[in-house]
Amino acid sequence: MAQLDPRLGETLERLVRSTDPRARIENDPVGLVRPYARPEDREVAGLVAALLAFGSVQVIRRNVSRVLELLGPSPAEALESKDPRALSRGLRTFRHRVWTGAEVSRLLRNAARLRAEEGSIGAAFKARLERHDLALQPALAELADALRGPAPTRAMAHLVPDPRAGSACKRLHLYLRWMVRPDDGVDLGVFDAPPSVLLVPLDTHVHRIAKNLALTSRETASWAAAEEVTAVFRRFDPEDPVRFDFALCHFGIARQCPSRVDESICGACVMKRVCTIPRAARVR
Ligand code: SF4
Repeated sequence: MAQLDPRLGETLERLVRSTDPRARIENDPVGLVRPYARPEDREVAGLVAALLAFGSVQVIRRNVSRVLELLGPSPAEALESKDPRALSRGLRTFRHRVWTGAEVSRLLRNAARLRAEEGSIGAAFKARLERHDLALQPALAELADALRGPAPTRAMAHLVPDPRAGSACKRLHLYLRWMVRPDDGVDLGVFDAPPSVLLVPLDTHVHRIAKNLALTSRETASWAAAEEVTAVFRRFDPEDPVRFDFALCHFGIARQCPSRVDESICGACVMKRVCTIPRAARVR
């Protein structure tokens, strides 16, 4: 990894301060989860919203809303009381990217089983985390196994990825960020687990900015890259390293960060002092 700019921490803090969560939340799937008041509903609605968070935000929000409407005012009660066949029928024509209603129905059935057996998804995560001495990868892998179920189809394995395989597992980390980080107007503080164990949900937007800031030199948004980026964040906030993610992600979603210098964008960028891209352009 390249030498970090000593002004990086202060610059990240400035980015967080300049991000208005209330304005951004309407353009984020977590905005569909916050209206539920009860933690049990938030953990179920959040699971659906996070695992379908792939593609354009507008389409994600539309398709997540369709599943949540089917679950009614209490998604947790719906998992307990609704006939799984009725849920499957309601999702018969559902499609989001490569996933159909069959995968979403299976996810909901597996989540219902996990909640019935262990009390909540949060309790299931906590038990696995403690069993593995707070090691995130094996704990999350076992949670994902339970949510994916045995002998998954290819689409099901994509919907609930396996952290052991080395991909960034962005949607699983997004779910954990929402559930584990304290309620700050964006994240929800539902699970009883320390935010210090979390990894940044590394999607293409955050990965590109992370490369521009020299937080990682890895070319792909992998689990290892997520660990590198989180290790840098941990220097500035060991207890809550992924609190920088929401601001960085929305900076990327707003398409404010190009892969090469663009004076019309970079000139006014809050991070230009620590970004390697304008410097590289000057060297050329
Ligand atoms: S200076 Fe330009 S390339 Fe660097 S973070 Fe800002 S917008 Fe992105």
